[in-house]
Order: sequence, then C-alpha cells, then structure tokens
Amino acid sequence: MKVLVINCGSSSLKYQVLDMKDESLLAKGLVERIGIEGSVINHTKTGEETIVNEVPMKDHKEAIAQVLAAVQDPAHGVVQDMSEIGAVGHRVVHAGEKYADSVIIDDTVMKALEECIEIAPLHNPPNLAGIEACRALMPETPMVAVFDTAFHQTMPPESYIYAIPYEYYEKYKVRRYGFHGTSHKYVSQKAADMLNININDLKLITCHLGNGASVTAIKHGRVIDTSMGFTPLEGLVMGTRSGDLDPAIVSYIKEKEGLDDAGVNNVLNKKSGVLGVSGVSSDFRDIEAAVEEGNDRAALALRMFAHRVRFYIGAYIAEMNGVDAIVFTAGVGENDISMREIICTNLGNLGIKLDPIKNKVRGRDTVISAEDSKVTLLLIPTNEELMIARDTMNLVRK
Ligand code: ADP
Repeated sequence: MKVLVINCGSSSLKYQVLDMKDESLLAKGLVERIGIEGSVINHTKTGEETIVNEVPMKDHKEAIAQVLAAVQDPAHGVVQDMSEIGAVGHRVVHAGEKYADSVIIDDTVMKALEECIEIAPLHNPPNLAGIEACRALMPETPMVAVFDTAFHQTMPPESYIYAIPYEYYEKYKVRRYGFHGTSHKYVSQKAADMLNININDLKLITCHLGNGASVTAIKHGRVIDTSMGFTPLEGLVMGTRSGDLDPAIVSYIKEKEGLDDAGVNNVLNKKSGVLGVSGVSSDFRDIEAAVEEGNDRAALALRMFAHRVRFYIGAYIAEMNGVDAIVFTAGVGENDISMREIICTNLGNLGIKLDPIKNKVRGRDTVISAEDSKVTLLLIPTNEELMIARDTMNLVRK
C-alpha cells in the first residue's frame, strides 16, 4: 500500500509518499506561504533533484491540490493516479483526552477534533484544514489521524494533574498532555529493536531535542511522564520557548512591559529559550559559533539547555527507579555532538557514560555509550512520517 502523509501547519505543509511494502520513501515535499503572496511547492522524488514551483495557493485546499498534482506529475510524480494511494495519514497535534491512539477519520472524529480547538487554538485549526481539503479532493480514500498527544495518554494522574483547583481539570480539561508523542513512540520502538529487548521489559528516557524539545519517561512501553504540558510551552529550555518558569513571572512581566495576554504569550513562545538568553539565534549552530567568538551569553544559553535536560533525566530515573537506555533524537539530539557530550558529562554515578569517539556521529542509528556504561545511550534519528504511515496502514488494513 502507498500512503500519503500530510503534516499541515498554518502557512506551510509537509508531505511524504511512502511505499509500505518496504517502508521506502517515494517522494517528499514542502509547501510554503499558503495564503500569502509567493506560495511555493518544493517536490522531491527520491533520487531526483527538488522541483520548485511558485504557484498561487490561497488556502489549504489549493495547497493540497498542488500536492496531489505533484504526486501524479508524469515526469516527477510517483503514482499514475490517486487510486494508487491506499490511505492518507494526517498529523494532528491535539486530541485532548479523546484519543489515546490513532483513529480512522469520520464525521464523529472531525467533530471531536473541532472540540479540541479550544485547547489547541494554534495547532489544530491548520491540521483540520488539511484534513478537510483532503477529504474534499479524495472523498474515496480512507484517512487516519495520528496525534502528538496520544502516546502520552498512559500517564498516571499524579504526572498529568496540575496542583491548581481540581475543578479546572474537570471544567476546562487543564492538565498535562505532552507533545511529540509520535516521535517518542517511534524512537522508543526503535530503541527496543536496537537493544533486541522487548519494550515491555525496558525503562527508557527519550530526549526529543529540536527547535521544540521534550523528554519522556517510558516504562515498559507506557509513558509515565513527559516534560511538555497543557501546551508545548512547558518543560525544557527550547529554541524560542521558555519552558518551566515561576508562573508569577507572567503577570509581573506583563505589568512591567505593558503587555497584554497575546503579547506575553508571544514573548514566552517566540522570544525566549536559547534565543532569548543568547540574544543570538534559536539555532544551536549559530549559538555555538557565537561561543567560539567568546560570547558569554551564548555559552550560558547552551549550559542552561543542557542543565534542564539533565534535570529531567535525573527526575525520570528517580520516577522509574532506574533506566536502561537514554535516546537522543531530533535536530539537536541527532546532530549536536558537543551538546550530547555536555548533557552526559558527570553522570557516572547514575551509570551513564558516553563514549566520546562513538559520539562523533550525526543522524544515524548508533550506540554512543561506553562499553562499561550501565545505561545504553542511543542516537536515533526520528521518523514521525514513517510512524504516521505505519499507523495509517495498520488501521486501514483492519
Ligand atoms: P523542529 O522542532 O522545527 O522540527 P528540528 O528537530 O528539525 O526542529 O531541529 C532543528 C534544530 O536542530 C535547529 O534549529 C538547530 O538548532 C538544530 N541543529 C540542526 N543541525 C544541527 C547541527 N549540525 N549542529 C547543532 N544543531 C543542529
């Protein structure tokens, strides 16, 4: 079966076509500036050069139409017509407490996801626009929604309830949900494969360190805690997000800076994190270059980032009474050799020892711990699209 995977943002859209016979990637692409002047689609058939096509796309439906045209293009496409696509898998950020697993999309599911817009106003509307566009253009093709929050639904209440009046959970569903679930799930399964141990016998900590970043504790295949919360703002220091802070700071900064709610949200989501501290960039490569030039605040930002990752690793080892393997993934986790080294420094008493030579690797499934490390350290490139395609195929086949 060939599966089309769609990840729809507010003005951009990523897609992939996978052949699930051997899980190979047939084509992938990126649409940018949807609804803005200069809309463009970049389409890459595996093994060929990227085709860039500037075409006006005023909404998600026009963007999806361009994707379908690219996928069927006689020269650079990968199918002759859409009937060859057996199913479409959609990434959806937030399912609230409604779904603990991926689900075949029907009208009931659409209604449930619309109800989640209130708690995910930034993320769910573009995801839903993508689904609606696909349903309109491919009415016969089964579609599956795969949620960022689903994998985390196994958390016990002591991990997900906030210590605020309990009615806020009951009335408004204010609780920790966790995000990046598809990535944490993928790398945890891959870790079990690499270790050749059943996931039900493993205690894992997975560190998804990208522009957004989160750490998850997975005991015997079930998430027991994760660092992101009600929104993806909680937890680690991130590229531009603050992560954990004293909530009293919010009203204090609002007053001092004369900000409204949207203003302070913008600061915490877009102007904080390693960007806010370093004043340089949200990209770790730029910050590391600034450190080389003697920029102290850039160095501080990196130390803060590592400090928070170590903090969560320590907490999750305590919560699980040990850990068998720690996984690094996503942009920073997969590529930033020195950051992995800083994070793993001085954890010998916890049985964690990085091999500095094995660690000199980027973007490849690798064991990076020393021979005598009690805990296995793994570098595993994430593949959320493959996870979405697998769930999609499995549900549609049923
Ligand atoms: P997103 O959360 O946007 O999906 P990614 O997981 O793609 O983010 O991570 C992007 C980030 O990864 C970049 O902003 C950069 O900080 C980091 N990164 C990518 N390549 C490298 C590298 N070679 N060295 C250090 N950091 C890197």
